[in-house]
Amino acid sequence: MLFLTQSAAVYGIDALIVDIEVNLQPVKGEADSSSPVIIVGLPDTAIRESRERIRAAIVNSSFFFPFHKTTINLAPADVRKEGASFDLPIALGILGANGDLGNSETLANVLSIGELSLDGRVRPVRGALSIALRARENNIENLLLPEENATEAAVVQGVNVYPIRDLRQAVEIARGLQSGKGAPVSPLKLDASEMRNSESRYRADFSEVRGQQTAKRALEVASAGGHNILLIGPPGSGKTMLAKRLPTILPQLEFEEALEITKIHSVAGLTGKSGLVTSRPFKSPHHTVSQAGLIGGGSIPKPGEVSLAHLGVLFLDELPEFDRGVLEVLRQPMEDKNVTISRAATSLTFPSNFMLVASMNPCPCGYFGSQRECKCSPIQIQRYIGKISGPLLDRIDIHVDVPAVKFKELRGKDSAAVENSESIRQRVINAREIQLKRLNGDNIYSNSAMSPSQIRKFCALSAESESLLERAMLRQGLSARAHDRILKVARTIADLEASENIEPPHISEAINYRSLDRDYWT
Ligand SMILES: [Zn+2]
Repeated sequence: MLFLTQSAAVYGIDALIVDIEVNLQPVKGEADSSSPVIIVGLPDTAIRESRERIRAAIVNSSFFFPFHKTTINLAPADVRKEGASFDLPIALGILGANGDLGNSETLANVLSIGELSLDGRVRPVRGALSIALRARENNIENLLLPEENATEAAVVQGVNVYPIRDLRQAVEIARGLQSGKGAPVSPLKLDASEMRNSESRYRADFSEVRGQQTAKRALEVASAGGHNILLIGPPGSGKTMLAKRLPTILPQLEFEEALEITKIHSVAGLTGKSGLVTSRPFKSPHHTVSQAGLIGGGSIPKPGEVSLAHLGVLFLDELPEFDRGVLEVLRQPMEDKNVTISRAATSLTFPSNFMLVASMNPCPCGYFGSQRECKCSPIQIQRYIGKISGPLLDRIDIHVDVPAVKFKELRGKDSAAVENSESIRQRVINAREIQLKRLNGDNIYSNSAMSPSQIRKFCALSAESESLLERAMLRQGLSARAHDRILKVARTIADLEASENIEPPHISEAINYRSLDRDYWT
């Protein structure tokens, strides 16, 4: 007898429907428990090894494993199937073919997924959200999946999500749906509007950071224009503390953005029971991170840190300590806002639209330009800064000094002087709306993404601003490449004030955000 069930596989961050056909064919002679099971349709080793697991799960759930030659076909046949997540649908297919699910030859309108343990319990899988989205797109109404993944899948409205504990329960629900009487339990329901409202309760806030007005302001400008930023300061000056709070002043996530982030985290197996990811990610890989860890990869390709930071912040602490080769691979994802991982048979794409925040000491000992004595020679300092690759530095619009906080500022009791994240965020949102209106026709969304011709078009300077910029560039020895960056950042500063023109104060603030270009470094 032939029986058909449906499951899904995840490629990149999207899912593909996989049809599972099970055929039972009587064997001649005396049947025994070693009757053969064959799996075809490009299965990997994990799937081929699932045969014994599925047999044990079926028997230990008090079902009868058919004494037949069992052929299992996974379709489409030209796509490689990986992992153990087809256990549950294959088991249901075998039981269906054996008549355990009623008289029908298909498990219609049901998509199931899950790994089985020997005793029949169902284990969690990766990518449940993408699978639920695909099920809805294909008009499959019922989804049977491990209970650990249920909340995440139930984010998708219009699909009945049944959290499955073990094979017995899956069979009971499948029987109910097949008979037309309905499942013996009701599907999991989540209130999507409530999820949206519970958005972004960040544990950190800018009001907790004492002093550092210049650095805070620079982070506000960076958020407003989508500019990448480099924080330069001695150890203990609070660079990490500042960087961690950047997501709290970025605009709130839209629901569609939250879905996209959750899909990536789900494919990486990182969502757990939390369901929707509702706050902007902050990823801070250690400087020993590998190339695959940073941009993604592995035998079953998983998203890397650049994709886990999608729509949030990627923080590279101690930038000169990172391997140069590892930093080089950041260029493509930063340029394209997505990263392509090539494999033997296929290539996968993960999104990677993040804001880069990097930090570094001003010199190897860390105290150049601070009150403590710096023991480094000019050559040592030059070599230290030279460790950062030029092309990466070229993508960072803002460099800001983060000096050690003075004792007086740390002890300050004047709470009115410390602004909270929400009020900074409001200014960021307003500035972004202005940019959106100005740039929308040009298909970009923030000042940082302006091309040279767009800079000429949108960053015209008055004669006064022009001569200010010219003098500063000469006096401070600013490089030519600094010129366009100053204009972009000045445009954002003007937008924060809702000023149509770039005025001299905007230009001079932007010039201050080029500390690494000043001639005393080189
Ligand atoms: Zn030093």
